[in-house]
Amino acid sequence: FDDRDGFIWMNGSLRPWRDANIHILSHALHYASCVFEGERVYSGEIFKLREHTDRLIASAKILGFDIPYTADEIDAACKETVAAQGFKDAYVRPVAWRGSEMMGVSAQATKINLAVAVWEWPSYFDPEERLKGIRLDMAQYRRPAPETAPCKSKAAGLYMICTISKHAAEGKGYADAMMLDYRGYVAEATGANVFFEKDGKLHTPTPDCFLDGITRRTVIDLAKARGVEVIERHIKPEEMAEFNQCFITGTAAEVTPVSEIGEYRFTPGEITKQLMDDYTALVNRAGTSAAAE
Ligand code: PMP
Repeated sequence: FDDRDGFIWMNGSLRPWRDANIHILSHALHYASCVFEGERVYSGEIFKLREHTDRLIASAKILGFDIPYTADEIDAACKETVAAQGFKDAYVRPVAWRGSEMMGVSAQATKINLAVAVWEWPSYFDPEERLKGIRLDMAQYRRPAPETAPCKSKAAGLYMICTISKHAAEGKGYADAMMLDYRGYVAEATGANVFFEKDGKLHTPTPDCFLDGITRRTVIDLAKARGVEVIERHIKPEEMAEFNQCFITGTAAEVTPVSEIGEYRFTPGEITKQLMDDYTALVNRAGTSAAAE
């Protein structure tokens, strides 16, 4: 991924992709003092950019550091990188981390760095294929309690258990893993939130120990706009037997139907398809209207 043409924004200016390097003694590498975002560009516009920027700043604050740029400056850096890369449909990765000025658990004197990378990510339009649904294994690890980890921060360190869980699932032929929370309730996939359907209503876990995704909130609004009731509550794993439909939501996943989680089976249906269509229409409309302004 590091050997390609293009530009990455790093600490105030664009530099060639291959030169966007950091020192091996960066605190973030050793102690996970790092937060990041994942954003999508549709038709040249970053979807919900300010919400992502606000979350990035909040994530850093939760880990005890301030990003040395304002929200306006971070938005501008993201837009500048998108423009420099020239992709119309892309993924944006802002990342902020503690540098290499001192080494140890205490890192008070480290400099806070910010970078933004953008790579091409074509919109994927094959609803028929997607409606077959993806298969998820049950994850070995659980989302930690709020008293155990800074679970409201999109912090690099919290992804350690996600990568382990996703690799284990992929090793068994699954697309992803479903994580329970510390109490044993259904929580989320390794990089996406989850929804279930029963009797025409949607049920989704209360995000009290994992990210309340921007896509999750968007899809709740889209469902309500269609008159579909959305119930946020604690969901026991065995309740999955009673649900008909299931899908996951996230910036990368968008609305992705799920056919299988562990021993439970789902059949993607009308509500899932409508929300996939509504989400696709929304992100494209957002891009078009912003571009027209
Ligand atoms: N949970 C986790 C662990 C994630 O990594 C993501 C992706 N950022 C989400 C949920 C969904 O968040 P969003 O809809 O804001 O992308």
